[in-house]
Amino acid sequence: MTNTPEQSCDLCGLPVPKDGLNLKTPERDLAFCCEGCRGIWQMLNPGTAQVSDEKGKSK
Ligand SMILES: [Zn+2]
Repeated sequence: MTNTPEQSCDLCGLPVPKDGLNLKTPERDLAFCCEGCRGIWQMLNPGTAQVSDEKGKSK
């Protein structure tokens, strides 16, 4: 057991390896297991991690 909690992918929930991908947002740091998950997350959350005034889809 270690004191270092494993991060879970913020998209699919899989464990994120130490050399996983991170994405910094104004609110918090996100972690992703792969580049694909990060890309999808960015598509689902337009404007969150990227400075953009483009109109995005709202739920
Ligand atoms: Zn993932």
